[in-house]
Amino acid sequence: MTDCLFCKMANGEIEPDLVYEDDEVIAFRDINPQAPTHVLVVPREHIPTLNDLQPRHAELVGRMFLAAKEVARKEGIQEGGYRTVVNCNRDAGQSVFHIHLHVLGGRPMAWPPG
Ligand code: AMP
Ligand code: ZN
Repeated sequence: MTDCLFCKMANGEIEPDLVYEDDEVIAFRDINPQAPTHVLVVPREHIPTLNDLQPRHAELVGRMFLAAKEVARKEGIQEGGYRTVVNCNRDAGQSVFHIHLHVLGGRPMAWPPG
């Protein structure tokens, strides 16, 4: 996708504040952090929303969570805890239509979320 912000970050056209990368995913700091650690794990493949996931993406989704675990380790929030979130479409407030996993930590999280 030529006009997608997160595709541009994945292909290096825009330089994100990278925390982690491998051949399938990148992880970078959110520009508007909602917690002391707020990192987005983004697959290199353009998938607009959770609704667009296919069975062939099963391993990729696992890789996203393994990357989240690695981000949490690097950020020193594994033991204290953290939250992973995928927003899908309007009611969840999705604003970038390239699927991403939020990794939030470094402070206590309220439940239920707003
Ligand atoms: P969502 O609302 O779940 O689609 O999350 C999109 C996230 O992308 C928001 O938390 C934004 O702050 C974040 N974001 C938007 N533009 C950028 C950017 N240029 N660099 C890093 N994060 C961004
Ligand atoms: Zn994209």
